[in-house]
Amino acid sequence: MIKIYPEIDLLIKCDRCGKEFQATSFHLTGMHILSSGTCPECGAYELFKEMPTSAGLIYATVIRGSDGNRVDDMPFQNWYISSLSIAFRNKNRENVEIKKTINSKARKQKLLLLNTVDSTYGHSVFNLFNLDYYRLKKEYHLILLVQTELLWMVPEGVDEVWEVRIPFSKAGSWSESLSAEVDKEMRRFEEAFLCMAFPQPSDEGVRIEDYTRIRPFPLNEWDQRLQKPTITFIWRTDRFWKPVLPKILDNRYTRKLFPRTIKGIRGSLQFKWILKFASELRKKAPGMDFAVAGMDTDKRKLPEWIKDFRHSVHSDEMARKLCERYAESHLVIGCNGSSLVLPSCHAGAVMNIVPHHGWSVSVGSFVFRYTSIADTFYRYCLVHSETSIERMVKIAVQILRDRSMIELIAGKPWNDHDAGLPAGEWARFRKGIFENTRLFREGEGLISIASNK
Ligand SMILES: [Zn+2]
Repeated sequence: MIKIYPEIDLLIKCDRCGKEFQATSFHLTGMHILSSGTCPECGAYELFKEMPTSAGLIYATVIRGSDGNRVDDMPFQNWYISSLSIAFRNKNRENVEIKKTINSKARKQKLLLLNTVDSTYGHSVFNLFNLDYYRLKKEYHLILLVQTELLWMVPEGVDEVWEVRIPFSKAGSWSESLSAEVDKEMRRFEEAFLCMAFPQPSDEGVRIEDYTRIRPFPLNEWDQRLQKPTITFIWRTDRFWKPVLPKILDNRYTRKLFPRTIKGIRGSLQFKWILKFASELRKKAPGMDFAVAGMDTDKRKLPEWIKDFRHSVHSDEMARKLCERYAESHLVIGCNGSSLVLPSCHAGAVMNIVPHHGWSVSVGSFVFRYTSIADTFYRYCLVHSETSIERMVKIAVQILRDRSMIELIAGKPWNDHDAGLPAGEWARFRKGIFENTRLFREGEGLISIASNK
């Protein structure tokens, strides 16, 4: 955690004389959290620096108060870095509504702030998981800043919750009213600290039930539940991994000139692709329960045998229903990003179809549910976007049908010398796994076939 009141524990380097000086003002503006000050040597102009939390931990951008231009020494830029100058030059002077809920009346002298406000849903969820660490710090009055869409996920043990009613599309802007409200609050305490939120906190400790109150897919019931292999496909029309239209038709010019036409054609080709995938999978796994989820306004009707979890706006009830569905799912299939974070917390396995440019951010979509390394690796699967429907179906079937083989060979209790299992247990479990083959019409990957004796 970083001290922010009465002193601010942040040094800023002056771009004119090179002197490092201590920041004197704190600004929690939304996604961007900064401290500022003026160089005591040359007194040039006020400099603003990102506080080391969330993305600011990695991108310690410094901008000049005179014009918002960058003056740090990072030899690169990206959307996050650039968004700070834009936010600074276009300060939002509208009042951001904040609804405060105080859960603890204990009078404490030290304040601790955890900000989860972000312009990306997945980043906000990851910021929230930092609570695993900070809610145990009982000597501090912990205030959590959270957007409305995540409010239902706030766990027990938070002294005070500020519901910040700002949409994701505006959370990257510089809110003067939010900054003023935080500033006023911290002055009520003897000392105040900002949580250092990691952009992706360790997933080893995340107990998703504490957040969603939904028990994740019971991995020890994998095979029993294969009577009805359950698969959920997350459809993001804005991020379909497969370029379903040639570039000559679908490029940034045509999208600008004919946005509705291009969106319409893309949508219908994507829809066809998903139906084809689901139908082919059903041929191999006739007992399956298949659903399509995803946030979109697409109204195309799904066949009766596919459950429809698509929705156009957030509601807590829908968010809960979705997590329940993920927790029933052996396998969730989707494409890189925010839409895989909660599924990977709840489902048995996740197949991430990675677009050609997205490999470096692909595993960042996962919150791993750890078992053995082999089994974890098997259940969180990356598939490249060029993969055909036929190949994807075969991979999905093998994840469903054969997962217990991975457990038997490389997981506990099977490879634990101290487990004390009777000698016949391995063979008994292996016979049980063989029963799974009857539920699927697929021979690929089978290492045993029914004997003729
Ligand atoms: Zn200076």
